[in-house]
Amino acid sequence: MLSPRGYEVVTAADGLDALEVIRREHVDICLLDVMMPGMNGFEVCRRIKSDYHHLNIPVVMITSLMDKKNRILAIEAGSEDYISKPFYISEVLARIKMLLQVKSQNERICQENLESAKEQAESGTRAKRQFLNNMSHELRTPINDVLGLAQLLEMTDLDQKQRDYMEDLRQSGSNLLTLVNDILDLSRIESGKLELERTEFDLRSETTSSVNQLSVSAHEKGLEVESLIDSDVPLLFNGDAGRLRHIFTNLIGNAIKFTTKGSVALHIRMECENDSHATLRFIIRDTGIGIASDKLEMIFDLFTQVNGASNRSYEGTGLGLTLSRQLVELMGGRIGVESIEGEGSIFWFTSVLEKAGRCGADA
Ligand code: ADP
Repeated sequence: MLSPRGYEVVTAADGLDALEVIRREHVDICLLDVMMPGMNGFEVCRRIKSDYHHLNIPVVMITSLMDKKNRILAIEAGSEDYISKPFYISEVLARIKMLLQVKSQNERICQENLESAKEQAESGTRAKRQFLNNMSHELRTPINDVLGLAQLLEMTDLDQKQRDYMEDLRQSGSNLLTLVNDILDLSRIESGKLELERTEFDLRSETTSSVNQLSVSAHEKGLEVESLIDSDVPLLFNGDAGRLRHIFTNLIGNAIKFTTKGSVALHIRMECENDSHATLRFIIRDTGIGIASDKLEMIFDLFTQVNGASNRSYEGTGLGLTLSRQLVELMGGRIGVESIEGEGSIFWFTSVLEKAGRCGADA
């Protein structure tokens, strides 16, 4: 009766077969007998409504047993409609048409709700990102004022205790500034608004000044710090020296933070080059606490700290590696880590740098 009227009909011999058809085929509506071998129609209906509820298939029970008790059972099983035998084909067709209309209306409403929820979520994310961007930008001005004033105050007559307080004040201020700058960079990268600078810089002096700065805290802990740039690495480049320095100071800073004895070493070597560009590999090796192999994948995720870093054994925010990875990728490179827990870690990243001026350097 249905096929000639444009419906594609699949029949099932029993309840289990019906469930298999529903699993396999795209079913719009299900007409169910009650009396069937094995599972009865009510049970099949219940299974459709529970196991395949996500498909939203309307079920119509068709039976000669539609007395009051069975009508209640049909409703309880979750069927949308029931038809008593003997039936008029026109009635069956009208009910199928009505149920399919309701189904497609519901699907349309669902789709519209989904799209509007998605749009709302996206606009919320945009607003939050904008807020974060503006706030971190605005925060930098007063922090820089505080740091500037602290510097002026340090130049006045102070006793030792006041000088110590000033030093702590300046250190905390500068940590805060780094944090705010990191957040600003992350939010700019996320919204595709971070523009890399392009100025000429000398790789050796950038490296030496950063390593020298970081060596102070390493030496206080009794650690050796080594730095080596291979002789075939060109020294002058055009690029964003500040952000490149940010990446390796972050990695060297972590190496020092998570090492209590031994050494921290930076090695820069040539990966490959052509006339205009060189791909360099920066390798930062430490003899520190290392990272468990099952944690290696996650340390580049935002706010992730392992090794008890989150329980304040080590200071930190879990932002550094996330930002480093984003910056490395923005500069066309890759970043990675190898580590043995209790023995140490090797962090590495590559960077494709545009050569500038004269090339060649001494080891
Ligand atoms: P932070 O150092 O501020 O906690 P990072 O994003 O720089 O955040 O690092 C994330 C986590 O990765 C650290 O908390 C630490 O658990 C682990 N980690 C990073 N570098 C090292 C390292 N050299 N040795 C051991 N663990 C490290």
